[in-house]
Amino acid sequence: MCSCKKKIKNCEFWQSAYRTSDLDKFVQEDSWIPYYPRIIQPVSANLANQILNLVMLGMTIPFKHYIWNLSYKVYREYYESYVDFVNFIVSRNQSSVFIDGGKQGFRPIFIQSFSRSQIPAKLIHLTRRPHDYVYSYAKVYPYLSKAFSMKMRSRNDIIAFAAKKWLSVHRKVLNLKKFILDENYYSMRYEDLCQDPNHFLAKTLRFLDVEYENLQQPVIYPEKFHLIGSQSIQKHGFDGVIKLSTHTADLSTEEIKIIDRITQPFSARFGYV
Ligand SMILES: [Zn+2]
Repeated sequence: MCSCKKKIKNCEFWQSAYRTSDLDKFVQEDSWIPYYPRIIQPVSANLANQILNLVMLGMTIPFKHYIWNLSYKVYREYYESYVDFVNFIVSRNQSSVFIDGGKQGFRPIFIQSFSRSQIPAKLIHLTRRPHDYVYSYAKVYPYLSKAFSMKMRSRNDIIAFAAKKWLSVHRKVLNLKKFILDENYYSMRYEDLCQDPNHFLAKTLRFLDVEYENLQQPVIYPEKFHLIGSQSIQKHGFDGVIKLSTHTADLSTEEIKIIDRITQPFSARFGYV
C-alpha cells in the first residue's frame, strides 16, 4: 500500500517511477548482480544470488573496486540505472534523502565500492526485542506459510524458526558492517525510537549529514507524497509517539526459553538481556 491509499500497482507515482527508469531490467537476471528495489514485484530471495553477492563483496576487500571490472559493462549498467532511480525518487519526493530499505543490504555496499567511495554507504542497524519480533512473526506465520507455500510447523517450531530468522538477519547486517568504516555504522533500538522518535530521528539525520527538520510539519504537497511503509503510521498519523507493543507476557515460559537460547549470541549485545 502507498500512503495515497492506493495499491502500488494503481499508484501513478510508483507506476511512473517504474516507466521512467529501467527498473525491471535486472529483476529477472539470474546472475551475480544485486537485486533491485522490490517495489515492482516481490522477487523471492535467491540463495545462490545472495551467496555470490557476498563473495563478490568479500573480494572487494583485497581487490577493491577493480573486482567489478570482471564484468564491467553489466555492473556499470546496474550502477547507472540505480543512480537514475535514486535521482528520480529524490526529485519527485522533493527531499535529498533516499533510504534504501532493501533487506539484503548488498546494494549500498556495491554502490560505495563501484563509485570508489564517492557515494559512501551508511548502515543504520535497527534492532527489536527478540520476544516481540518472534511473537509478531508467529502471529503472521499462518498467512506467510500460505502465501509463500512454506510448510506448516508446530507452535514451538515456529517460535524457534522465527528466533533463528532474527539471529540470521542480524548476523547478515553485522557481516555487511565489515565493508564500511566504523563511523558509517549506527545501531538503534526500535524500543528507544518509539519512546522518543524526535530525538532519535535527529540523531539519525546527524549521522546521515542531513539537516534536521521538524517531522511533524504538515506535508506541503500531499499529492506528491507517496510513501510505502508502516500502515499504522499512515492510518493514525505521526504525533511524535509510536505506541510500542510488548509481548513477553503473551509468550509461555517454554517459548521464552526457546527464544532466549537461540537469540542469546546477539540479544545481550543489543542490550535486550
Ligand atoms: Zn501513491
